[in-house]
Amino acid sequence: EEEVSEYRKNLAIRVSGFDVPRPIKTFEDSGFSLQLMNAIKKQGYEKPTSIQCQAMPIVLSGRDIIGIAKTGSGKTASFVLPMIVHIMDQPELEKEEGPIGVICAPTRELAHQIYLECKKFSKVHGLRVSAVYGGMSKFDQIKELKAGCEIVVATPGRLIDMIKMKALTMSKATYLVLDEADRMFDLGFEPQIRSIVGQIRPDRQTLLFSATMPRKVEKLAREILTDPVRVTVGEVGM
Ligand code: ADP
Ligand code: MG
Repeated sequence: EEEVSEYRKNLAIRVSGFDVPRPIKTFEDSGFSLQLMNAIKKQGYEKPTSIQCQAMPIVLSGRDIIGIAKTGSGKTASFVLPMIVHIMDQPELEKEEGPIGVICAPTRELAHQIYLECKKFSKVHGLRVSAVYGGMSKFDQIKELKAGCEIVVATPGRLIDMIKMKALTMSKATYLVLDEADRMFDLGFEPQIRSIVGQIRPDRQTLLFSATMPRKVEKLAREILTDPVRVTVGEVGM
């Protein structure tokens, strides 16, 4: 209602899509586990940022999302925290192999930052994160993947290499994040992204985050997301 739209306005949040869940005000509003709440506090995160206030309830409700907010706005936690909840909600965690959460980022440096953020929040529930980008020998990477993980943070090229080498299967993946989608396009990863998306079951939840929204990225989003909610924070360029 009016209070919700006033609150969004104050946070510079704009939304589009049907039945958009209302934004939260505190992390407690998300119903996170005690362990996750402690990890959030330990990080020094006192209250959610604008993108987190609106993106987290959308993602926790199971919806696909297009999240547009500038660098430094806290996009990482807005997909990492709901991912932990999504994974913990899966029945029979141990039965099949392969990651449940798959996060793609354009560069090794960005992927590594996300990897570190994932580690902080996943260890409280004993979830395993694998880093799939340059910096580790492919041999060691395959060994690590074969040992099992619930979360993979990857650059597109290396992830495809690992899939081709059968180091991991995507059959269990149900939560896909494309982070910094605009930069992945700038770096020419569109074919790799399409290939990865094509290997993940269509009943997945898909999240696309970007600082800007060029036409090409918009087109991809329309093709690979299902009834997404679009969240924009602040003024964003094309
Ligand atoms: P983006 O992906 O939008 O560029 P990041 O997710 O990298 O932003 O977050 C930017 C910085 O803000 C990081 O140092 C992160 O630890 C910090 N941060 C994220 N969420 C919060 C929060 N709720 N409160 C305080 N700091 C936060
Ligand atoms: Mg980021």
